[in-house]
Amino acid sequence: MELKLTRRNFLGSAAVVSETTLRPSKASALSRTMVAESNAAAKGEDLANATLTRAAVAKIKWKAEPFTMTEVRLLPIFWKNMMELDRRYLYSLPNDRLAHNLRVTAGISSDAYPPGGWEAPDCELGGHYVGHYLSSRALLHTSTGDEAVAAKANALVVILAQCLAKDGYLGAYPATFYDRCRAHQKVWAPFYTYHKILARMIDMYEHTGDQPALEVGLKMAVWADAYVSTFSDHEWQKVLLVEHGGMNEVSFNLYAITGNIEYRDLGYRFDHKNVFEPLAANQDTLSGNHANTNIPRIIGAIRGYDLTGDALFESIAENFYRVVNERHSYCTGGTSNGEMWHEPNGIAAQLGAAAEECCCSYNTMKLTRHLFGQKPDAKHFDYCERMLLNVRYGRQDRNGMLVYYVSLRPGMYKTLGTQFDAFWCCTGTGSEEYAKLNDSIYFRDESSVYTNLFIPSKLEWKERGLRLTQTTKYPNEQLVTCVVDAAPSKPTTLKIRVPYWATKRVAVAVNGEMVSVMATPSTCHELNYPWKTGDVITVEMPMTLHIDQAPDDKQVQAAMYGPLVLSVLQGSEDLTNSVIYGDTGPFGSNDGYPMPTANLHLMSHRHHELATIPVAPHAAEYNIWFEQVEATRRYPLQFRTRGRGPTDTLVPLNLIMDERCSVYVRDDMIV
Ligand SMILES: [Zn+2]
Repeated sequence: MELKLTRRNFLGSAAVVSETTLRPSKASALSRTMVAESNAAAKGEDLANATLTRAAVAKIKWKAEPFTMTEVRLLPIFWKNMMELDRRYLYSLPNDRLAHNLRVTAGISSDAYPPGGWEAPDCELGGHYVGHYLSSRALLHTSTGDEAVAAKANALVVILAQCLAKDGYLGAYPATFYDRCRAHQKVWAPFYTYHKILARMIDMYEHTGDQPALEVGLKMAVWADAYVSTFSDHEWQKVLLVEHGGMNEVSFNLYAITGNIEYRDLGYRFDHKNVFEPLAANQDTLSGNHANTNIPRIIGAIRGYDLTGDALFESIAENFYRVVNERHSYCTGGTSNGEMWHEPNGIAAQLGAAAEECCCSYNTMKLTRHLFGQKPDAKHFDYCERMLLNVRYGRQDRNGMLVYYVSLRPGMYKTLGTQFDAFWCCTGTGSEEYAKLNDSIYFRDESSVYTNLFIPSKLEWKERGLRLTQTTKYPNEQLVTCVVDAAPSKPTTLKIRVPYWATKRVAVAVNGEMVSVMATPSTCHELNYPWKTGDVITVEMPMTLHIDQAPDDKQVQAAMYGPLVLSVLQGSEDLTNSVIYGDTGPFGSNDGYPMPTANLHLMSHRHHELATIPVAPHAAEYNIWFEQVEATRRYPLQFRTRGRGPTDTLVPLNLIMDERCSVYVRDDMIV
C-alpha cells in the first residue's frame, strides 16, 4: 500500500532550516536546558533517567514506557555473566590510551601508547570507540549501580572537554576531514564518528547526570550546525551520502533536553531524501545500500516523530521495520551481507562469511524498543528475543572479546577481536549492548506491567510499591516463575508475552492454580488479580521444533527449537587462536564447507510436528528433519538430523564457540 505524503514537499521543506545558525552561548543554551529535567525535579524523579524519555517538548506520548535500568536488576545466570564480561573488558581500557588521538589532534601532549585497530592514529574512524566507551560505562552505571564505572567515564569527559576547540569541534582527527566531505573527496565517515562522541556525551548526561558532558555535547552541536548551515540543500544532500550515524537522532535528543528548536531543525537537516522518500511511500529500495548507514537514520526518524508528531517520520520508520523484517532478515533476525542489503528475499543467495553485521542488530533492536513504546505489540519482543538469543548471546568469549559478523557461510566460525587492536564498530555497539541487557525486560503503562523478556531479574516499581522477581533458566528450560515480593498499591495487570513459537499448550498458573492452557502465540497474556505479597505466577511454554525456510530457495532451511536457531556442528579443523582472533574479522575469507544436506526423504513422513509461525519472516509448515537427543555436558540442548543416512549433530547457535558450523541445511528433495 502506498502512503500519501502528508507533509508537503516534506524533505525539501524539512531541510530548509532557519538562517539563524545555532550559536547559543553556553549560558543561554543551558538556561534553556532541562525543560524536562526541571519538570522531573519538581516531581522528585530521578533526574539522570527522566530527561529523554519524558521530554516536555514531546508530541507523542508512548503508550508504554520502559522501566529505568535502576528499577531492574539482573540476577545471576548467563545474561548477568555477559554484562560482567563487558564490565571487565571496559575496566581493562585505560582512559589515557583512548584519549591519545583526541589530545594530539587538539595540540595537547600525550605520552600514552596509542590504541590500535579502528582507533589507531592513522585510522579515519578514530574516536568512535571513545564514544561507545562513555556510553557503555554510563549504561553500566545505571544497570548495576557501579559508581566507579561512572567515575572513570566522568574523568574521561574532563579530558575530552580540554580537547574541545573554541568553535566546538571535537575529534580524533582534524576538522579538515570535513573539507573532504565538502569536496566529495574520499574520506571514511567523519560525521559517523562525530555522532558517536556527541551522542555519548548525552548518554553520560542522561545516565550519570554529568553536566560537563552535556556542555561538551551542546558545543559540539554548535560546530555541527555551523558546518551544515554553509551548504545549500542540494549540496548538503550530496554530503549525506557519506555515512553519518544518528546525527538526526542526537540533534532531536538535544531538542528534547533543551527545548531549543534550533536543535530540532538541525535534526531535520539530516533527513536524507534518497532514503526517506521511498520509505515514506512504502517502497523497498534498500538493495545496494549499506545497512548500518541507514538504520541509525531511521532511529532518528522515529525519534523525530516523538518530538514533532510528524506522521511522515512514523511512516518511514514503520515501513522500514516491516521491509527489513519481512524481506531482508535471516532466521536469526539479523540483516545484511557484506554490510549491504541485497535483492529482497535474498537469503539463500546471501549466506556470506560477513553476514549480519552486529551493529545492525544493535540498531534494529533499539528501533524495535522504540516502536513498542509507541504501539505495544508482542511481536516486537518476539523479534528482540530472536536477536538476543541468537545474535547477541554467545558473541563474547570468556574475556569479553566480541564478534563483528554472524557468519552464515557453511563451515565458518566465530571470529573475535582483541583487547586493543580491533575496536570495530561492532566492538562499540557490543560494549553498549551488554551493558544494558536489563533495559527492555519490563515496560509499564498506567495500569499494567509488561514482561517482555524471560531474563532472571528483579523489578521494583517504586511509585506503586510493586516488587517482582523473575527466575528461569530459559531457554534451557521452559518454565518462567514470577514472585510478587511486594504487592502494588493500585490494581495492576501483569501482561506476559506469549512467544510466536509457543504453538503448543502454554500453561499459566497463579499460586499453583491453572488459569490458562491456551494462551495465544505472539500476544500478551493478561493477568488481573488483587495481587498480594507472596503470589507466584508460573508460565510453562513447551518448545516446538520448527523450520525457517529461505524464500529464494525452499531447499535451504534452518532448524529452530522454540526461539533458538540450531546449527550443524562441522568440526574444528584448522581453527587456531590466530585464525579465530584478529583485528580484521572474516573479511574476504574464502574459508567454508559445503552446506550439509538433510536426508528426511529417506524415512517415513508420519507423525512430524508442524508449527505455524505467524511472525517468522520465512516460516512454512514443513516436515521436521531433526529431533532432540540426550544432552551433553557441553550442550544442554542437543539434536540430530533424522533419517537412515549419516546424521549430523545440531546445537543452539549461541553455544558454539571454536567450532565450524552451518546454520542452514539443504533438503534437496524439496521441489
Ligand atoms: Zn559494526
